[in-house]
Amino acid sequence: MADSTPLAGQVALVTGASRGIGASIARELAQAGATVVVNYASSPAAAEAVVAEIQAAGGQAWSHQANVAEEEQVETMVKAVLEKEGRLDVLVNNAGITRDGLLMRMKSADWQSVIDLNLSGVFLCTRAVSRAMLKARSGRIINITSVVGLMGNPGQANYSAAKAGVIGLTRSSAAEFASRGVTVNAVAPGFIESDMTAELDREPILKAIPLGRMGQPTEVASAVRFLAADPAASYMTGQVLQVDGGMVMR
Ligand code: NAP
Repeated sequence: MADSTPLAGQVALVTGASRGIGASIARELAQAGATVVVNYASSPAAAEAVVAEIQAAGGQAWSHQANVAEEEQVETMVKAVLEKEGRLDVLVNNAGITRDGLLMRMKSADWQSVIDLNLSGVFLCTRAVSRAMLKARSGRIINITSVVGLMGNPGQANYSAAKAGVIGLTRSSAAEFASRGVTVNAVAPGFIESDMTAELDREPILKAIPLGRMGQPTEVASAVRFLAADPAASYMTGQVLQVDGGMVMR
């Protein structure tokens, strides 16, 4: 029978875990036995609610505020995790934003803020955890990209460029870290029910999804749990796992 707590004794840091997909990933990894650090940027009450929920279910979690687009805040956060827990086994780079608009009218600030968080934030967090993971000769890094990073999307030049960049970053870091037992994979969700997609016009979206519905955050979280767990995904690295209802078939 499969181990129901494959992450027991391990520590997982999930960025942007106060809401949506990140909160679901935090719950899932806690259920798998990990102590989860719930990172958030500006929603302390929501982050504390996720922590309380995990604890009420018998799991272990605590929250840490940090803007993951800011180098110093990322370094401080990872240092705090290592000081408090003495280890860091799983990093899930989930925090992300959209600032949509047609390219011709896109403000440079909207381009830059999406690149800074959705791409550079993944780089900063990966670099910050790399020393400890490489030294430990084990670790799992899971980057949340998007199918938009594979196919592009009108109105999302900034977002799709960042998400495509995350796929390149995933593959390069996977190649660099493989010899030290650290794997790096990406999960590419399609359209998932969350605050990020709450305002979108559903009709054209649903037409493009063979399974005929939006995904749930838990359906992304279970893919992350698979990639985080040993031995389940121990021979996978540099891969992009799509959770998109069949939207992009390659
Ligand atoms: P969401 O509901 O809008 O939640 C975003 C999360 O990111 C929140 O926890 C937020 O924290 C956090 N965050 C925002 N700015 C941050 C910063 N500077 N530093 C640290 N955390 C920050 O989004 P979601 O739909 O769950 O998306 C999660 C990830 O999945 C993103 O990377 C997104 O691009 C990706 N994705 C989503 C979909 C979808 O359909 N929803 C599809 C493909 C990919 P606060 O609450 O503190 O602001």
